[in-house]
Amino acid sequence: MNNEIWQAIINNDASYDGKFFYGVATTGIFCRPSCKSRNPNKEHVRIFDSAEHALAEQFRPCKRCKPDGKRLPDEDWVQHIVQTIEQHYHEPLSLMRLADMLHGSPYHMHRTFKRIRGVTPAEYIQQMRLEDAKKLLTESHLPITEVALQAGFSNAAYFATVFQKKTGKSPSDFRHSFGNE
Ligand SMILES: [Zn+2]
Repeated sequence: MNNEIWQAIINNDASYDGKFFYGVATTGIFCRPSCKSRNPNKEHVRIFDSAEHALAEQFRPCKRCKPDGKRLPDEDWVQHIVQTIEQHYHEPLSLMRLADMLHGSPYHMHRTFKRIRGVTPAEYIQQMRLEDAKKLLTESHLPITEVALQAGFSNAAYFATVFQKKTGKSPSDFRHSFGNE
């Protein structure tokens, strides 16, 4: 490695981005020259002329500077899905609609989400709705039908079925158990 390249790395010089990539043998991660990650130990640095070469040598792209630049790492994408669900769970939100909003295929979304979060997007939406419904049941005097709709359930009968299954109580019993008449 020549001094010019080493200087570009330790100065996080963005003008070298795309001209080369560097991997750190001890971590197995590769970066763009401009990456703000901690300066590597010079002996452990390997230089690549493309992201493809680094990947071919089994280096993984850095999560911070995303040197493969093609798609977001799965964790970031899943985080984005979580935020979208949290903003929209009270609306009719199918997996198809969610996939549309996030520019992914429903199947890939379902699988990636499940792998990283341990539940499917549909289960996560239902958890959010149930939490919201419990809050409305204990903190408001809204009729059950209204609680169901506000929490994002398509109708009161479906809400009552899901609620009973997940909590072991009907919505009104749940409400009464909190002293909320
Ligand atoms: Zn990096």
